[in-house]
Amino acid sequence: MTDLADFLRARYTETRQREQAKRMVVPSVFDDHDVEWRYNLGEPETLYVNGHPYPAEEYTEIATRPAPDPDVIADLDVKLALLDEHEPGGRYWPDSPRQYCKTCGSGEPNEYPTDWPCPTLRILARPFAGHPGYQEDWAT
Ligand SMILES: [Zn+2]
Repeated sequence: MTDLADFLRARYTETRQREQAKRMVVPSVFDDHDVEWRYNLGEPETLYVNGHPYPAEEYTEIATRPAPDPDVIADLDVKLALLDEHEPGGRYWPDSPRQYCKTCGSGEPNEYPTDWPCPTLRILARPFAGHPGYQEDWAT
């Protein structure tokens, strides 16, 4: 069973990788040519320039540049840092199935602890309630 922090870390990492892969088309020698990506089901996409196949990596190198949104990356980095901040502090006793958050509550097992996953992680999980990996017991 995946725990809530692992689930969130996977979602943020996926989103961060997609954002890092974004590129934008920039002015290049291809500007006055017919550039077309063709997609055939089950086959890799193929780039055509003026109706002729063209190496996609070469086109990408010449005609695009990385374009991740720095605000999106910063937001995801903050969320990943929150996951680190709200890790389990430990178990209530050695054989206990319940854990407490190291940050919320007192961070101690015997003095006003907050169960883990804590409300902070549960709130962060709300946007993913429709994800197939989301577990209903993560709802607050
Ligand atoms: Zn917490």
